[in-house]
Amino acid sequence: MTLKDYTEVIRQGDSSGNGMLIRITLPSGYTILGLPTENAYGGGWDLGPTWNYILLDDKPFLVDTGKFNMGGRLLEMMRSAGVKGEEIDFVMVTHGHEDHDGSLAEIVESTGVLVKGLDIYDRLIRIYPDRRRSNGKNNFPASCWRCFMPETFTKKNCIEYQRARSRLKIDPIEGKCNKLTESTLVYHVPGHSPDSLAIFVLGEAVLVGDTVLPDITPWPSQEAFFDQVHEILKPRYTAAESIYGLRAYIKSLVKLKELGKSMNDLIVLPAHRLFYHDQWNKIDLPTRVDELIQHHIQRCGDILKILEKGPRTAREIAVAYFKEPLLSGFGILLAENEIISHCELLNACGDTVVEGREKFTATGSMAFESAILSLEPDW
Ligand SMILES: [Zn+2]
Repeated sequence: MTLKDYTEVIRQGDSSGNGMLIRITLPSGYTILGLPTENAYGGGWDLGPTWNYILLDDKPFLVDTGKFNMGGRLLEMMRSAGVKGEEIDFVMVTHGHEDHDGSLAEIVESTGVLVKGLDIYDRLIRIYPDRRRSNGKNNFPASCWRCFMPETFTKKNCIEYQRARSRLKIDPIEGKCNKLTESTLVYHVPGHSPDSLAIFVLGEAVLVGDTVLPDITPWPSQEAFFDQVHEILKPRYTAAESIYGLRAYIKSLVKLKELGKSMNDLIVLPAHRLFYHDQWNKIDLPTRVDELIQHHIQRCGDILKILEKGPRTAREIAVAYFKEPLLSGFGILLAENEIISHCELLNACGDTVVEGREKFTATGSMAFESAILSLEPDW
């Protein structure tokens, strides 16, 4: 059986899935609606729309809300699929990135719906006026304190969204695995973002957010982000690598693979590119997880190769590693982030050390591959 066999297209969209509306009926009869909202950032690359989902549980609930200003669009799509905003029992987001919770405040304002969110999310979305930042981020929530985007970008794109989001009331979820409804379990799968979640439905489907995507490699966060927020996340989260960075991300991938092991024909519902280039993307969870882990092993090896020529900063490695189109505009910042995530792992296993002026130096050891392959989820 393929994804297509379970899926009925209620409304056709474009070749990337924009404007589409689908109904997925699982073997047990449990129904999930897919409501992709436009997610255009401009520039050369396209992630495709954000796939928001409504799970038609005993009472329907919504997962993800699309980009900022997509609330009206999402409510219209819900109505077209036969669900009124007031009928939604609660809403939650797969993680706190703007393309997923951008319209959360707008949806709450329109419908009064309850928001469930991980305790980390509840803390990171708040603005802490007493904690002065040195980098112009005083009016931004804790999740933004280590944001690498320049102020010109954040002032234009983020302030309004962050303000609305910081006022949300959250019904917090604590713990690594929680029963959400009779049919659904939610797992903490940090790494891409410290608050990333995956929702398993009856052992038949899993909503993975951006933790696993078809044909795109989700970028990991940096362990260094934890330094700025550890005071806010105390006492529950005390180790950077348990929620931030490449090590956390790989542990979460392994967790998803282990969970999916006993589930045959598990339908994987990602938050981007479920449908793209006029095709359905079926994800085989164990295969995709292995591919993603291999990708990171390869990248660590490539970085060590670049460092054979001598110590380099993350930016110098990024420039040597990535091709020109990826480095233009803000691309260089994303590329640098990606390199730092990998260098943090290389540092942790002794393959590199940081010397003067943030330069990474290869030590000659090659422990990264076995270190990555022995990472185990701390459930
Ligand atoms: Zn996303």
